[in-house]
Amino acid sequence: MHELAISQEVVELACRRARGARIRRIVLCIGRLSAVLPDAVQFCFNQCTEGTAADGAVLDIVEPPGLAECRACGRAVLLEKPYGVCACGSSDLDWFAGVDLTIQSVEVV
Ligand SMILES: [Zn+2]
Repeated sequence: MHELAISQEVVELACRRARGARIRRIVLCIGRLSAVLPDAVQFCFNQCTEGTAADGAVLDIVEPPGLAECRACGRAVLLEKPYGVCACGSSDLDWFAGVDLTIQSVEVV
């Protein structure tokens, strides 16, 4: 399962960043074009933190909207979902924001 692997990686990276300190909160950015399901990541998170420095930590997920540039007319297009059409009718879009999944912050106790 995709989201389980992502949760595991997030916990691992956060623990490394915390350098052994106990983690209280992790803020995760999941872009709307990343094709990752935030609910599923949230669901897997608790089982991934068991026995780690992030045990009992809260996972906050923010979902920045996607931005694309239309290859036909050059206009910037705001995307809430991983598909869309420019005002000019073209669906040939070049995504440049909201694609990534990143850890925004790790709060330690
Ligand atoms: Zn266009």
